[in-house]
Amino acid sequence: MLARKPIFPNVIEMNYQAGEVLGCCVYLVFDGPDWILIDIGLEETVEEIIELIRQMDFPLSRCKMIIGTHADVDHIQGLAKAKQLLKAPVFTHPRAIAPLESGDKLRTFAQIEAQKIDMAMPPVKIDGTIDEGEQITVGGLKLDVWLTPGHTDSQLSFRMGDILFSGDNIYRDGCVGAIDAHHGSDIVAFIKSLRRIRESDVTWLLPSHGPFFRKDNALLDKTIARLESYLHMADFGTCATDWPLLDEWEQELAAGTKAN
Ligand SMILES: [Zn+2]
Repeated sequence: MLARKPIFPNVIEMNYQAGEVLGCCVYLVFDGPDWILIDIGLEETVEEIIELIRQMDFPLSRCKMIIGTHADVDHIQGLAKAKQLLKAPVFTHPRAIAPLESGDKLRTFAQIEAQKIDMAMPPVKIDGTIDEGEQITVGGLKLDVWLTPGHTDSQLSFRMGDILFSGDNIYRDGCVGAIDAHHGSDIVAFIKSLRRIRESDVTWLLPSHGPFFRKDNALLDKTIARLESYLHMADFGTCATDWPLLDEWEQELAAGTKAN
């Protein structure tokens, strides 16, 4: 048997468990023989992850659900394979169903033609949905479901006691998940989600990429202020709400202002 290396009571993260970077964070939440997975990552690491789980002596038949935190390829490309190997049901937010069941490469960020990025996106049948206010039970554990849109419209987070599985909302360095209209980003919603995390009394954030870290309101404030500036920057294209320079220019044109 492989020694389990939980990062918190009842929580194993597969990159930490493996002692190397496999991909996005894959959280195994367990109580007794029952367990669930929060994300699975890319298809190429599914077998390795399931083998680690088997070696840690978790009965594969006791996987109660595999959750897709949102419909981005790096989190969910392996869902179809994992579902087939574990025979466990797959759950996502309702807005993730269409892109996942159709294998939509644009919405899942699997294909970015201009950068010659073209990843496989195996369609997967979603067995159930989870949404804001619901609760997931694993043995005696309870996880509260938070819908935290912004990075994508289907981004879920999960609160368990003083920890929050915080998805792609914020990482230890204050970066956030990619803002891009193609996979449904919304900066206004993103700021709201970050404020919700800031106002919450959770102690630990367990993100979907990189190390877990202690919730730090100063870091959140800095990130929120940065995203607020994005609302008015041309850099963020259709995700920005306005571009003050164009308003200024309009006034200058109307006033007949010229360079002096
Ligand atoms: Zn993502």
